[in-house]
Amino acid sequence: MRATLEPLGCVVDEAGGVDDALAAVRAAPHDVVLLHRELGDALSAIKGDPDLFRVAVILVGEPPDVASVLAALERGAHDVLREDAPAPELIARVRAARRAQEMHEQLLTREHDLEELAYHDELTGLPNRRFALRQLHALLSRARRHELDLSVLLIDADRFKSFNDRHGHPAGDAVLRGLAERLCERVREEDIVARYGGEEFLVILPDTTPEGAAALAEDLRDAVAAEPFSIGRFALPVTVSVGWGAWNGEDLEQLVARADRGLYAAKEAGRNCVRQDPMGAEAGSR
Ligand code: GH3
Ligand code: MG
Ligand code: MG
Repeated sequence: MRATLEPLGCVVDEAGGVDDALAAVRAAPHDVVLLHRELGDALSAIKGDPDLFRVAVILVGEPPDVASVLAALERGAHDVLREDAPAPELIARVRAARRAQEMHEQLLTREHDLEELAYHDELTGLPNRRFALRQLHALLSRARRHELDLSVLLIDADRFKSFNDRHGHPAGDAVLRGLAERLCERVREEDIVARYGGEEFLVILPDTTPEGAAALAEDLRDAVAAEPFSIGRFALPVTVSVGWGAWNGEDLEQLVARADRGLYAAKEAGRNCVRQDPMGAEAGSR
């Protein structure tokens, strides 16, 4: 097999047993493994391993009967080959296995890229609204089940339309990236900072009481206002308004709506400040 495959440009490694074979596949990416049917146990080991399952496995051995071919395919083998197969057949089957492996790889990459697109905001690198709402949904269920605290903040850049008009959209984009960074620096690891809309961020705070939420809201507001953003040669001041809500047994939409009414109240109060829903926290009961 080596004599047939190497002249085609294949790099061929040999292993004397299952452990050696697994170690070799783990050490360097291999497209195809030709595995003797006597070492069939390695097939399950490869297909069950998150690092190795991508490799295409061809089982090689005595001319197989239909039942054992079907069993091998069922267990994840790409193909089955007689060990005395002529060179052209070996080449054709290895090439086919390699093509299948490449297509599988491309699909996995595309799936990963789609997930990135679906859940991430390209400008700031933050999770997007869709991801944030999914996470909030899960965290609300957890809070309900274990009677835990949970709070949210809605943070909106003040007069951002006129910021763009004055300094240009690219400068506005740079500020949004800077805002994302500043917010992320000041929250805990388990908190989620997401880009909720254009110049609006949602921060989800698991295990956080109303007092904790109000304090963090003020801390974040201050962190933005305290230091202008360096954009090119300029240092440009930006402020944000923050609305917060602590979960009180209501559903997700009501919680976010309360934070949003807090945000609206902060804007009404003159911006660069923190408010909760002026209608109060009694919208639901735990
Ligand atoms: P307010 O203080 O009431 O929030 O005023 P505002 O101007 O920030 O609010 P408004 O909703 O009127 O405008 C939002 C602005 O945010 C308009 C839009 O151009 C800007 N914006 C939204 N998304 C982006 C973005 O991705 N990049 C940039 N540069 N600007 C954005
Ligand atoms: Mg705004
Ligand atoms: Mg807004």
